[in-house]
Amino acid sequence: MPLPKKPKTAKQWAAEHAKTVSKDKATMVCAALETVKPFRHWFGWSGQGHKWDNLPATLQAKVPRIGAGIQEWGSANCAEIDAAVRAINKGANIDNLVFAAAEAAVGTLRKPCLNCAKWAKQG
Ligand SMILES: [Zn+2]
Repeated sequence: MPLPKKPKTAKQWAAEHAKTVSKDKATMVCAALETVKPFRHWFGWSGQGHKWDNLPATLQAKVPRIGAGIQEWGSANCAEIDAAVRAINKGANIDNLVFAAAEAAVGTLRKPCLNCAKWAKQG
């Protein structure tokens, strides 16, 4: 019997998917991975036009509003937010998600901005 396939990490998902996204579509790509069964994953792209006021309540509870974060821009436009919104809309619990981001087209892993570092658990 073949060995069961080792599940991919958020970093692997992000790096792999980022390579398929061209720079004119997004700057950054983020993978959100469930840390509990069924270990689903979602991708998010930067620049998707999310507004803090429209974020799911469980995300609002964690994400600093513009002006309240360390960095002025807030994190609503970050790829991490897009990934989190997609995951939460499919029933994932924000507390069971880890995130990893990579640069579009090249797939190089990138640390989250200082705002996302406050709420997006890295995995
Ligand atoms: Zn960010």
